[in-house]
Amino acid sequence: MRAFTLSITAIAALLIAGSAPAQEKGKGKAKAAPRVHSTGYTDTPFLPGGKWRVHDDARPRPDVVSPGETSAHPPSDAIVLFDGSDLSEWEMEKDGSSVDWIVKDGFLEVPPKGTGVGGYIQTKREFGDVQLHLEFATPSKVEGNSQGRGNSGVFFLGGYEIQILDSFENKSYADGQASALYGWKPPLVNAAREPGEWQTYDIIFEAPKWDAEGNLLEKAHVTVLHNGVVTHHRQAFLGPTGHKRVATYNKVQETGPIKLQDHGNPTRFRNIWVRELDFTAND
Ligand code: MG
Repeated sequence: MRAFTLSITAIAALLIAGSAPAQEKGKGKAKAAPRVHSTGYTDTPFLPGGKWRVHDDARPRPDVVSPGETSAHPPSDAIVLFDGSDLSEWEMEKDGSSVDWIVKDGFLEVPPKGTGVGGYIQTKREFGDVQLHLEFATPSKVEGNSQGRGNSGVFFLGGYEIQILDSFENKSYADGQASALYGWKPPLVNAAREPGEWQTYDIIFEAPKWDAEGNLLEKAHVTVLHNGVVTHHRQAFLGPTGHKRVATYNKVQETGPIKLQDHGNPTRFRNIWVRELDFTAND
């Protein structure tokens, strides 16, 4: 113990001794001009593809995007799909009419069953490759079980579903729990919060790519963070998702609406925004 105490004292002494001369160093001397760094190079080898050199000075710099105040706030290039009150980006899937879900206190809620209103809603715009932020809360009053608890879902291209469910201590099939690629891939972990609590999805969706003859070139892929926890990393879809069947790529489609499911449970949504992604922007 004594040896340990001594060694700490010795280290402290060294640190003090080490810092003192540093303060003295600049005294009386002219401050050296900061080194000028090159903003890029013109004599370095070419990268694969032959378009740009390593550290090429002529290569266009990425667009500037101002981030939101926090990672939950929309950045400057986001399309805000729901800000707590405005539903002008949405329509009913069945007939394109105005959305009849409940809007109150800054959130959107699936209407109760048997009231003659409701149904899936979708964006009026079509999207391909996107980053989506969405917040949801499953009902605080727990009713039902398995797929009957807080069920909803977010669909890309109108058909590729990331499941929304109350998966807090709620046993259901693994490929149907919150954050699953419905009917195919369970999340890496169950990151669900308790019923009634606000939860986040941050999703990067890559649309499938097709050639002119309708042959699939690239499957749809998705990366998902559920409440900040990675639940999928560039996971391929089997195709547009379905119930009790194996999905297949049966529809040539590279863009489509983002859709939210009415599964008869009063699931809530708020703060939904999307960024369109161009993966070739700075090639
Ligand atoms: Mg669902």
